[in-house]
Amino acid sequence: MESILVLTHADESGTALTKASLEAVTAGLELASQLGASLTIGIVAANPAPAASSLAATGARLLAVSGEPFAQPRYATDAAACEALCRAAQATIVLAPASARFTRVAAGLAHRLGGFVDTHITSLNVGSIGGTEAIEATRWFYRQRVEAVLSRDLRPWFLLLDAGTHTAFAGDPAPAQVEEVAVQLPPIRTTVSGLREPKQDQQTIRPDAKLLLVAGAGWTKKQPDGQIHAAEAGDLILGFLHAAGASLGSSKSLVDQGGEGNSVLPFLTHLNQIGQTGATPRHAKGLSTCCHGEEPHVVGWRFIADRRAISLDPNCGWTRGKADVVYIADAFQVIAKLNALLEVNKS
Ligand SMILES: Cc1cc2nc3c(=O)[nH]c(=O)nc-3n(C[C@H](O)[C@H](O)[C@H](O)COP(=O)(O)OP(=O)(O)OC[C@H]3O[C@@H](n4cnc5c(N)ncnc54)[C@H](O)[C@@H]3O)c2cc1C
Repeated sequence: MESILVLTHADESGTALTKASLEAVTAGLELASQLGASLTIGIVAANPAPAASSLAATGARLLAVSGEPFAQPRYATDAAACEALCRAAQATIVLAPASARFTRVAAGLAHRLGGFVDTHITSLNVGSIGGTEAIEATRWFYRQRVEAVLSRDLRPWFLLLDAGTHTAFAGDPAPAQVEEVAVQLPPIRTTVSGLREPKQDQQTIRPDAKLLLVAGAGWTKKQPDGQIHAAEAGDLILGFLHAAGASLGSSKSLVDQGGEGNSVLPFLTHLNQIGQTGATPRHAKGLSTCCHGEEPHVVGWRFIADRRAISLDPNCGWTRGKADVVYIADAFQVIAKLNALLEVNKS
């Protein structure tokens, strides 16, 4: 019989669990119910009480490590905490969010426990191999073009889950019984002295955002008045990102323009590129602007179910079944109007 452990950790507030941790909780609940297996949730936090209370409704066994050493991500303390939780739970299957914090320790953790780790898992199912019940973990290879289903006999099996692949668990907070797990800490040589983050306007890639705004090369091309309006385009795009809390994607043509000496939007890099040779994000909704919707770009929208596009070209790729709604309109005018409406709604 499998024993499933979901590893979770607190967010920057220190009190709530990260969204990705809550998604892993949902995956654990679903897998435990399919297997009829026991479920344990391990919490890594300086003060795990509020997080535990948010998990009371799961009915799972709750284990936690607590104390100042676990307030900050750090290999030595996180690996020791996760190892102690895995041993206390006697876990055979360990699910964890693929956060920077857990991705850093997962391979070392699997090694310490003589297990095996797989990463970028997008779904879990229970199937049958040779008539025996088997856990099947799905992941994508080769830039999301080949989907593989993995199964392993070796235990413990560590599975890092990609963010956005499960619904975040949300239960009413209630008093919870938490078992405190003691951690033998190694000498700590790393001190976390603070965080340095890029300014809000520079941080355009937001995996947790509900909406992806895609900017295409049209933004920096000659407009009907014969002029290029790159500065205005930049202001409109940043204004929209700010007002809607959206993440910014780009077509390859637009991010390539910097190298070709054309007008370019200074806040865009190749990290924003969506598509065959770019990223494949998982936002719930996508709005494409000034982009033609060619296949090498649209394959990057594989996981975006609700798609809209604004294009001047009624024959663009989006109108050929690649978007749910296409507005044949000038994106400069539409986004300016949208920004104004968002501003009114905010006040
Ligand atoms: C091997 C290979 C890999 C590739 N990988 C990728 C990839 O990963 N990602 C990617 O994006 N591309 C990729 N491409 C390139 C891709 O085929 C297209 O060339 C690219 O996506 C085109 O970008 P675009 O639509 O922004 O530009 P364009 O084709 O120039 O389209 C601009 C669009 O903007 C519209 N427009 C202009 N002004 C306005 C306005 N005011 N309002 C509304 N609409 C306006 C125009 O009508 C036009 O449709 C790849 C190509 C190859 C060969």
